[in-house]
Amino acid sequence: MNTRLTKKEILEQFELRKSVNFILIQNIPIEIENKGENLKGCIPITRNEKGEVSGSFCSYCHEYLPSKNPWSTGVYIFPTCKECTLNASYIENRNNQSKNKKRRTKNYPEDVTVDWVYVDRMIDNSQAKLGLLANKYNLENTDMRKLIIQHYQDRVTFKRGRAGGIMWNTCNKKRK
Ligand SMILES: [Zn+2]
Repeated sequence: MNTRLTKKEILEQFELRKSVNFILIQNIPIEIENKGENLKGCIPITRNEKGEVSGSFCSYCHEYLPSKNPWSTGVYIFPTCKECTLNASYIENRNNQSKNKKRRTKNYPEDVTVDWVYVDRMIDNSQAKLGLLANKYNLENTDMRKLIIQHYQDRVTFKRGRAGGIMWNTCNKKRK
């Protein structure tokens, strides 16, 4: 039977597998070995009576993988169970999500056309706030700041605090 699972179902199964295997890991005789040359950290493995590596653990969910030797070719290989291999893209995606989420919803500064006449007027009226402008153009604050500096160079200053914002730099106030 080959049923297509939703992303949510896959992640639920992954979490379930992880919790079940965590108990398993605590109850079978394991050895903790260094991952190998130039690799940080350790990996749990099992050995048979002859002292050969008889199993390893999925690097995603810790599922015990009988007869999977992480050093089988002489080079350390990340062991991955069948389920995690099939669903790796979802799991990888989830791991990266927090990092990319913010970026994806914001505009890139090169895609934004700022109405500088409007910003001039805001500064004139002491209403120019970095956060407000960033919001208006759906940019990260740091990107908005970069655009402002690019445009005005040293003609403006950024002042912190409640009464702060983007001000004309009184030493360099020269309008275009
Ligand atoms: Zn796995």
